Amino acid sequence: MRVTKSFRKEDYKEGKKVIIYGAGRYGELAYWMLKELNIKPFCFADEKMAGDKFCNLKVISPNGLKDYLDAIVLVSSYNYFLEMVSNLQSMGFESIYDILELLKLECNEANLSEYLLDEKHNWQKYANVVDNADNNKVIINHCELVVTECCTLKCKDCANLMQYYQHPENLDERGIKKYFNYFLDSIDMLLELRILGGEPFIIRDLDSIINEFVYSEKIKRITIYTNSTILPSEKVIRALQNKKISVHMSNYGAVSKKINELKKVFIENHINYYIHNYDKWLDLGNVNCRNYNGRQMVELYKNCMMAKCYSFYRGKLYICPRSAHGEQLGIFSNSNAEFVDFTKEENLEDRRKQIVDLITKVKFLTACNYCNGSASESNVIDAAIQMR
Ligand code: SF4
Ligand code: SF4
Repeated sequence: MRVTKSFRKEDYKEGKKVIIYGAGRYGELAYWMLKELNIKPFCFADEKMAGDKFCNLKVISPNGLKDYLDAIVLVSSYNYFLEMVSNLQSMGFESIYDILELLKLECNEANLSEYLLDEKHNWQKYANVVDNADNNKVIINHCELVVTECCTLKCKDCANLMQYYQHPENLDERGIKKYFNYFLDSIDMLLELRILGGEPFIIRDLDSIINEFVYSEKIKRITIYTNSTILPSEKVIRALQNKKISVHMSNYGAVSKKINELKKVFIENHINYYIHNYDKWLDLGNVNCRNYNGRQMVELYKNCMMAKCYSFYRGKLYICPRSAHGEQLGIFSNSNAEFVDFTKEENLEDRRKQIVDLITKVKFLTACNYCNGSASESNVIDAAIQMR
């Protein structure tokens, strides 16, 4: 049974406060769709943006929502959907609304950035979260599966720390399949599997990994992330011809030199793709120890957009790619609570519990002490500057 009701215009009555829970892309989409219905939201609620303004409206802390039990609260997030729902349930909200029907509305697309348009056109992604939300299930929204440390670019500020590998490797295919299948056995659903590196098209037989997972009923979508510098092999192109798969093409300008060729290949072969233009990145900084105190680490993690960016690497599940690669690079050692190790013998129930603990109990990571964090107030830098 669904835990939320999709908000429709008839749910609104004049004078009723409408609060958008989530000041990110889905929150902004909710804002524009409400505008189509001539409904002016009262405010946003968001942990990371509390006290700021978003779309010219004030942003309150989610804790403040308990003062508005009569309001219509729209859960407008993909990554934090279940957490938000359970937060509202614990405060005593009886009707909790999702924005699925709003996303399906026609609108003036000129108001929407390319990122918002992507999310709107891919409303099925959000629908998967809404339709499968269940507090008793272990549902992972997205998980990055690292298949190689090798990259065709060497970006000075790669957030995933690829620039620090002196001897990068393609990861063992049998290990990837074996341990990722153990992970799938331990959860109920993975809404999006993201296959990435480095640069995944470096692996000429990536088709074998794609084909291993594309038929898994637990995985709802697969996205391959490429920096648009290299064409995939013929057999990989064939493997990509599946409705469940899309290719995220990063466009870093001049260095993404195969972007037009890639686009042509994808069009000719009926492969789903979308292009994201990146001019700027947030600056997560180098890997020097910052010597933060405990309170600073908790704040950094709480506000970080990369926290809970699940990363599966060398048989272990992490909740931030920097946590995974920082440890592999010997920059720091994680405590056992900061990852789940699928290379160790463990029964299914214990693994499941470890995953739930990782998702719900971690308040900061060792890696945060070696990082600036990725938050709205972070420094902005030029994207994909290459090292000499
Ligand atoms: S292309 Fe991507 S993975 Fe490769 S170095 Fe740049 S940011 Fe990192
Ligand atoms: S602040 Fe922590 S969670 Fe955020 S990117 Fe850095 S290491 Fe990852």
